[in-house]
Amino acid sequence: MSDSVNTTLPEKTDVLIIGAGAAGLMCAITAGQRGRSVLVIDHANKAGRKILMSGGGRCNFTNRYAGPDNFLSQNPHFCKSALSRYTPEDFIERVKQHNIAFHEKKPGQMFCDNKAKDILDMLLTDCQRVGATIRTRCSVKKVQSLPGGFAVVSSLGTIQCQSLVVATGGLSIPKLGASAFGYEVAKQFGLDIVPPRAALVPFMLDDLMLGSLSQLSGSALEVLVTCQHMCFRENMLFTHRGLSGPAMLQISSYWQPGDTLSINLLPHIDFYKVLQQRQQSRPGAALKTILSEYMSKKMALVLSELWFGDMSYTRKPVNRFTHQQMQGIAQQFHCWKLKPPATEGYRSAEVTLGGVNTQALSSKTMEAKKRKGLFFIGEVIDVTGHLGGFNFQWAWASAVAAGACV
Ligand SMILES: Cc1cc2nc3c(=O)[nH]c(=O)nc-3n(C[C@H](O)[C@H](O)[C@H](O)COP(=O)(O)OP(=O)(O)OC[C@H]3O[C@@H](n4cnc5c(N)ncnc54)[C@H](O)[C@@H]3O)c2cc1C
Repeated sequence: MSDSVNTTLPEKTDVLIIGAGAAGLMCAITAGQRGRSVLVIDHANKAGRKILMSGGGRCNFTNRYAGPDNFLSQNPHFCKSALSRYTPEDFIERVKQHNIAFHEKKPGQMFCDNKAKDILDMLLTDCQRVGATIRTRCSVKKVQSLPGGFAVVSSLGTIQCQSLVVATGGLSIPKLGASAFGYEVAKQFGLDIVPPRAALVPFMLDDLMLGSLSQLSGSALEVLVTCQHMCFRENMLFTHRGLSGPAMLQISSYWQPGDTLSINLLPHIDFYKVLQQRQQSRPGAALKTILSEYMSKKMALVLSELWFGDMSYTRKPVNRFTHQQMQGIAQQFHCWKLKPPATEGYRSAEVTLGGVNTQALSSKTMEAKKRKGLFFIGEVIDVTGHLGGFNFQWAWASAVAAGACV
């Protein structure tokens, strides 16, 4: 299905939604089903561009186990009401009704079998079904307050509406249309913003560290990473810029500049015990040989060289190590203390932390407490999910909450 053809805009609509992403389209469907006239505008050339890019092109459209604990927010209770009223099963039912083939990848993570485009087509079809109009390549110049509504001055004309829904997402991936527009509208109406920050984002490493580790670019290993009392046990990927993979993306949402990550590279064993056992069972085995039972030979060599400098150390038979040395080696692999200089930032972040302060919004309807008729939904709000389909579930749930009363 293609986007709607851009023709002249209606001068009046019940509901005007700015942002034709996951949340904006879902809100349009919900409001349209109630018989409201709905117009969705977006400055990008296409609706739902992030949906198309998501989940490596297969869209991890929800997570069966989505609950408040999977979200970061200054107010962790805010998301509860919307999430409980529109559940992952509700979205899965919609996907089934459209005969979209899907599967559960890791526990709870629901992906399309074919393409992310199936999800976007589903949303566009349902928008059409309820009579919602979508206009792309339409940028907003000004939002004005009117008695009983708003006037939005856009590049395609001025539109009056009773309800205005801001669904412009966060700042991640500017080339996909991300902008700070939502925050600006919030400020215009006196709503607070929790400072935004890139999240679910790879870490950069300094040149010195990269000099050694870039040889491992493309290699992955299951690790347990800890920062700010949060930990994730997932794969870590070495890249040509630093560290990525699900473990690093997840922990990046909790990491603050200056924080140290603690990475356990052997979370499934006690390496000190293993070394003690090998002193008995294979006394002549070199450290690198024992390590390569748990990681690639190259990784064993590169990491040992990075930490212990001397290559002969890694070739030394295990029975020549003292207990203190073995404890030191095990400690290094179980607790690699790493202080990344920075993340890759919005250029490659999947989401944006922070946003419109939830204190300013009703958790039932997403309406601004200070301004009747003004709604914020999706990623623009200070609610950010973990990796694994949670961010889309928030987009759907917050959109349905608003769509039911706009
Ligand atoms: C590469 C990538 C992969 C991802 N994969 C997943 C995944 O598999 N599962 C998951 O749950 N989450 C995933 N996410 C996160 C998810 O895409 C977002 O959380 C979700 O799209 C947020 O929905 P939204 O509608 O609030 O914002 P968006 O989808 O970002 O939509 C906002 C819309 O507003 C428009 N807009 C912005 N500014 C303006 C303006 N000034 N005027 C007019 N229009 C404007 C934009 O063009 C855009 O169309 C991924 C994100 C990225 C970047």
